[in-house]
Amino acid sequence: MREVPQPQPGLDELVGMTLTALAEGRRRRGGPLPAGGPSRVRAAVQAALGASPDRTSLLPRTGIGAAAAITGLVEALAAGSADPADPWCAAHLHCPPLPVAVAADLAVSALNPSLDSWDQAPAATTIETEVVAALAELAGFDPDQAAGTITTGGTESNLMGLLLARDAASNGRLASNGRLRVFRSTAAHLSVDRAAAVLGIDTPPVAAIPTDDQDRMRVDLLRKALAEHAGPVVVVATAGTTDAGAVDPLREIAAAVEEHRRRLRRRPSSAAPAETGHPASSGWLHVDAAYGGGALFSDRLAAHLDGVALADSVALDLHKLGWQPAPAGVFLTPRPDGWPSLRAAQADYLRSEDDEAAGFPSLLDRSLRTTRRADSFPIAVTLRALGRDGLGALVDACHDLARHAERTVQADPRLEPAFPVTLTTVVFRYHPQAGVTGSAAACTAERPDQLNDAIRRALLLDGRAVVGRTRVGPDRAVHLKLTLLNPNATRADVDALLRLIAATGDELAGGYGDDGTGNIP
Ligand SMILES: *Cc1c(COP(=O)(O)O)cnc(C)c1O
Repeated sequence: MREVPQPQPGLDELVGMTLTALAEGRRRRGGPLPAGGPSRVRAAVQAALGASPDRTSLLPRTGIGAAAAITGLVEALAAGSADPADPWCAAHLHCPPLPVAVAADLAVSALNPSLDSWDQAPAATTIETEVVAALAELAGFDPDQAAGTITTGGTESNLMGLLLARDAASNGRLASNGRLRVFRSTAAHLSVDRAAAVLGIDTPPVAAIPTDDQDRMRVDLLRKALAEHAGPVVVVATAGTTDAGAVDPLREIAAAVEEHRRRLRRRPSSAAPAETGHPASSGWLHVDAAYGGGALFSDRLAAHLDGVALADSVALDLHKLGWQPAPAGVFLTPRPDGWPSLRAAQADYLRSEDDEAAGFPSLLDRSLRTTRRADSFPIAVTLRALGRDGLGALVDACHDLARHAERTVQADPRLEPAFPVTLTTVVFRYHPQAGVTGSAAACTAERPDQLNDAIRRALLLDGRAVVGRTRVGPDRAVHLKLTLLNPNATRADVDALLRLIAATGDELAGGYGDDGTGNIP
């Protein structure tokens, strides 16, 4: 006999179940990430998914019902997550989202507006436009002129920046006189090179300008490299390098781009006709402020971004220093006219000139995507709820934590800092010291990379802490890093984490050499 289908719970009941299951999953996890490493996590998640070896039960013939599915799977997700709300989850630029932003995100999912046409998103179209204007003003652009779009993150924003730069270069008819070339520092994000590759502007290869000892672009070397290139350029400056949180000298870089524009104008062979030769056609400055853009909320740190308003385009990520659920990327440009590639392709079903003439706005040409969520909405709610001071206080709290961590690192002879703190990242490495037997100390001194690798992995495997790792300097030495984006973490949390890292290093350095294999256990 067929079973009578049970009534399915409504959204209010399901939200209640979700919150309960989140708490239960977190309780089961008991730390910043699940213990036991990938095989244990995989087994637990597969069990919750009902994923049997024949792979049929994740999609059963008859469903298990909303209550069982949501409870079981939310618990498994929470228990198996690296949770940025835990003070010892400090590796990546992945932040604990504000409850107010998560609540707003629920409304977006429930209403599901799509920004590709006004008749799918009447309110959300205005919300995105106003969020872009407010953030453009924060960056120092004229909000009535500036344009932009909400993106999936720095990756898409960097692609947009390079796309607009390429359009500007070809409109100015400079491309025929020399290929558009991308200049970025060696510390730039990998998405810059990917964007260049996608757009076909990667030959000759992107020019990588060396950085100084604080991870900032060497502007003297940029000037030299620009002087050797006779064609149009895009310079990508980074405001908040992913590893060190360093900010390139934006004002000086803008001056170097301006110098390049003037140089091209003086060359008669490459001069664009005056009426089409917008200055940006010969030199475009894109600022990748995916990480550092949040400093604009802080009275204390905003000065680091001095010069950002001289950019032709800017990338910001509010799912980093902005405490939004991802995705909350923002792309801004002070030039409202610069979107020809996107305008070139049209579809009558989405946009028509008669609708626009009748006053129906369209954001279709502002994004590479067609269907897209109203990710501006949680941002709008957060800006209203906290204001600039509220967000600035969160940025400052994380900056305070990073400076405190820096002092603790400096005070511990086993820990060696790599860069001064600019934003909220602390990069350092463990060095064995007195207390470790002489031969072990000598061995590990030759192989500090493996030792620092081993510290990170040991903490990861037993679920105690998520610490970042990168390579620093000309010898690309392995370093650890704390990316502190949790404003609720305390100084005591940070000190205890650094003690745990050093103690783990002592333990591993002591074991190393003892087993006679030369391998770090
Ligand atoms: C995080 C980051 C990106 C990439 O942003 P996504 O949001 O991950 O796409 C780009 N540039 C910098 C400097 C970043 O820190």
